[in-house]
Amino acid sequence: MQFDFLQNRQFALKFGGFLLLAAITCAFYLDLCGLYFQCGCRSWWAGAATQCNIHHAGVKHCPLCMLPLHESLAFIVLILTAQGHLIRRGRWLWAAIAFPLVAGLEALALGWYRGYWA
Ligand SMILES: [Zn+2]
Repeated sequence: MQFDFLQNRQFALKFGGFLLLAAITCAFYLDLCGLYFQCGCRSWWAGAATQCNIHHAGVKHCPLCMLPLHESLAFIVLILTAQGHLIRRGRWLWAAIAFPLVAGLEALALGWYRGYWA
């Protein structure tokens, strides 16, 4: 078996890019929650979900923050899967856009399903 340096370098570049995008996705995940649901969620380093409306009685609760842990992880895994797939095909820009786009579609579906905006 021959060591293909160029191919390995390209793989390392894509894998590194994926790790970077995954880190950004996880870091700003709650910011998008706050943006899409206007629930009060903030960055992890600015209070996270302490101001989320799930802590207030008499208001509709943020459907994303109400998810059990395994469903919340599935929410993130779907975004990361889309990013990984796009990076593998060399679509870097779409991989970066996939975070707000896929998260937005998921949030829209979840909010609609739970009647958050009704
Ligand atoms: Zn929230």
